[in-house]
Amino acid sequence: MRGLVRGLEDIIKSTFSLGSLSMDLLHKTLFCAFAKAGLSLFGATDEQRAELEKLVKTIPAPYRGLLSGRLYLSALKFVRSLEDFLRGGSRTGVLEEASLQFILDFLRERVGKVGGVVVLDCGSIPELSAIACKFAYLNRNVTIYDKVFVNPVGATRFLTEQLTDFNRGAVLRYYAELLKEELRAKFCAKISTIDLVVHRHGMNLIDFLSSLNMEKIFEQIDRLARRDSILVTADHGYDLVADEHGLFVTHGYKGECPLNFSRIALFLVID
Ligand SMILES: [Zn+2]
Repeated sequence: MRGLVRGLEDIIKSTFSLGSLSMDLLHKTLFCAFAKAGLSLFGATDEQRAELEKLVKTIPAPYRGLLSGRLYLSALKFVRSLEDFLRGGSRTGVLEEASLQFILDFLRERVGKVGGVVVLDCGSIPELSAIACKFAYLNRNVTIYDKVFVNPVGATRFLTEQLTDFNRGAVLRYYAELLKEELRAKFCAKISTIDLVVHRHGMNLIDFLSSLNMEKIFEQIDRLARRDSILVTADHGYDLVADEHGLFVTHGYKGECPLNFSRIALFLVID
């Protein structure tokens, strides 16, 4: 688990110089680095690689170089350690990080108190790392915790079903409220944009990225982060799938795929 987070910290360091880019371009560059790492470990076909290359070509040349250098290597390290981590879980049954009680105990102990909580429905590794990079560039203190929420089915209901153990309705907004109470925060927000765009535009990576509007998502989070320290997390991420139809994103994909990011949710604190 420690290795997983170190991999992400490397990514943030290697993209520090990209912090001045627009949020959409920063996010696209990170997305492509993870996608490229995932495709090479997956053993993708020439057609699938060519499809990603088409997307990479929409990144201006000066930043494209990062995708074959340090950023790519860090992404590779991260994807590998995530696979090891998830494989370890399937060997021993269910990982303790899949229990909401375990996560709440961890957050109470390690995070303690924050001003606000933001839950991104379907906030995946590329979005959370882009948010971390941007805040680090803006001189905010960014902490990536070495525990993640594990969502073995990659779907919201796996998390929200556990909310009934805490006398809450099985709705994601109540997760944000539960975290707010546990961390004695003053405000909380749930942002659904990423999930909506994955469901509507996930079938084509170029459409997906151009519909996401990370700039706007970041502005929403930044407005809250200007008020106080915030915890940013998700219920699950999304998977990058490569099949005979090409490349697309979805969550809760059951087969083997290049990026299995719908199985985890990170915890970031911006203060
Ligand atoms: Zn969904």
